[in-house]
Amino acid sequence: MRRKILAIAISVMLLAALVACGSPGAQTDTQTSTQNSGTADTGQAVADFQTDVHNPAAEVTDASEALQYLKDGNRRYVEDKGINRDTNAADRDVLKDGQKPFAIVLTCSDSRDSPEIYFDQKLGDIFVIRNAGNIADITALGSMEYAAEHLHAPLVVVVGHSSCGAVTAAVQGGTFPEALESIVNTIKASIGNETDVDTAIHTNVDSVVSKIKNDEIAKSQKVTVIGAYYNIVTGEVTWND
Ligand SMILES: [Zn+2]
Repeated sequence: MRRKILAIAISVMLLAALVACGSPGAQTDTQTSTQNSGTADTGQAVADFQTDVHNPAAEVTDASEALQYLKDGNRRYVEDKGINRDTNAADRDVLKDGQKPFAIVLTCSDSRDSPEIYFDQKLGDIFVIRNAGNIADITALGSMEYAAEHLHAPLVVVVGHSSCGAVTAAVQGGTFPEALESIVNTIKASIGNETDVDTAIHTNVDSVVSKIKNDEIAKSQKVTVIGAYYNIVTGEVTWND
């Protein structure tokens, strides 16, 4: 008899606890509602910026249109309003038979300097060439020529960035292994005796822009070449156009 009373008491307590906490089903509904609300917000953000987003299947022939995509993308990045990334599978499907990048971006290998991220672009949007110090060496120029001649990208952007270690090494000097020394010497040739690192970063970009403008393929394909500077603290890209 005592056991029966205990069992009834436990049942009552469990029932009371369930009522106080709400049923598991109700909790799931609340979570789903929150998730739906988040999805709706993302959808609104996509709608707001839809006209700024490049269609990976479309060829862009106008350099100013290409530049605007990059400017709009950097604005989204700085404002934390990146486009919806849920289209990766669809993008891969569109791109499986070919690519039509609207811009060629030459920038530094620095891990804080990732153009697909700070330009808020997707697969197939930009053709990226990276090396320490964003120099226009023979492989960088060859890669640029390929994208200009065969993929018809109308715009080349050379992006230097704040706190660039390669340019700092060229300003400060020192002893380097052979391959790295080749990069440092290339930058040195661009910046001369400049002692201010940030000025040297801009001068190096200007020099690389000039070199690409004089490239035979860049001239024959009539690509527009523009220098830019990425601030690793603010996320903002400033332009020399
Ligand atoms: Zn760098």
